[in-house]
Amino acid sequence: MTTVAAYAAPAAKAPLERTTIERRAVGAHDILIEIKYAGICHSDIHQATDGWGAGIFPMVPGHEIAGVVAEVGPAVTRYAVGDRVGVGCFVDSCRVCEYCEQGLEQYCVQGMTPTYNGRDKNGEPTHGGYSTHLVVDENYAVRIPDGLALDVAAPLLCAGITLYSPLRHWNAGPGKKVAIVGMGGLGHMGVKIAHALGAEVTVLSQSLRKREDGLKLGADHYYATSDPKTFEDLAGTFDLIVSTVSAPLDFDAYLSLLRIDGALVNVGMPEEPVSLGLGSVVTGRRTLAGSMIGGIAETQEMLDFCAEHGLGAEIELIRAEQVNEAYERVLASDVRYRFVIDTATI
Ligand code: NAP
Ligand code: ZN
Repeated sequence: MTTVAAYAAPAAKAPLERTTIERRAVGAHDILIEIKYAGICHSDIHQATDGWGAGIFPMVPGHEIAGVVAEVGPAVTRYAVGDRVGVGCFVDSCRVCEYCEQGLEQYCVQGMTPTYNGRDKNGEPTHGGYSTHLVVDENYAVRIPDGLALDVAAPLLCAGITLYSPLRHWNAGPGKKVAIVGMGGLGHMGVKIAHALGAEVTVLSQSLRKREDGLKLGADHYYATSDPKTFEDLAGTFDLIVSTVSAPLDFDAYLSLLRIDGALVNVGMPEEPVSLGLGSVVTGRRTLAGSMIGGIAETQEMLDFCAEHGLGAEIELIRAEQVNEAYERVLASDVRYRFVIDTATI
């Protein structure tokens, strides 16, 4: 066990503060990562405020982790000291169920082990990336290609893969009209990736405040959802809509924007249930679906794709003591487009 510095929420809704945590000794298949950067995902806020319930406190959030390998266990074959690596939303899974075997570890039948706010196989609470070091099984880390700087790569470990996976699964590409709802951390990566895949990309944002940025990042069109005319003008337009919105949404209104056979894939995780008039699905043979992050192999594929296309996240680098202020700004949709903690300041 090693004691390392971290930022933790001592209790639900309490401000995060500096503390220390224990990391396990480096096992045969483990690597020790010196964390350089940790992105702030809206899921961190849902959990640190216990908005989803069942939170384990004190909680060290952070599942967008980029760093450098500092030590390897004797049986490690994939990584060497000095390698640039990332860790996303989970650090283990059962490894033998049909989904783990297909590289869909995020849907493991036994349940994947979350990077934080979960328990490992020994029942110990897991702690995330707002810390200086992490010990992880080499099979649950990914390689960050040389073409990507570590700070802009960190958010790809959750925001990037959460959009890449459904965009690929639902075939975003040339000839497809894709809408991204919400221009936040996830949404702005959705715009970049959908554009790089060759789709015609529309942003549906609450206002036109971030329009210039959206167009620069690759959107072809940008609409304000606060304007009711948007829903009239765009009725029946899209093949695929991905909603990244963190609050309950009027799904009927967004479903009406799909073509026949179109799909609305929700990745946002609001804390309250939503209501739905099923007519909006039935009348257009439409699909309402969900998607959760991506598996290890697909996360590596996403990083390689982003490196090849020069797609890092748009970030605001902060010091660790600014984390509570950053949370407030995320809640106010005032983020352009991901806060990233420089973990050297912890
Ligand atoms: P974020 O940076 O806060 O972005 C969310 C965006 O949604 C905001 O920027 C805002 O965009 C829009 N929005 C916020 N409140 C809204 C409201 N009341 N009505 C309409 N639009 C609203 O958050 P994020 O980190 O991208 O995460 C988004 C959600 O995805 C969170 O719920 C998070 O827990 C979830 N998530 C899910 C997965 C998964 O695997 N499925 C992975 C990561 C995160 P505009 O200002 O452009 O309107
Ligand atoms: Zn996340």
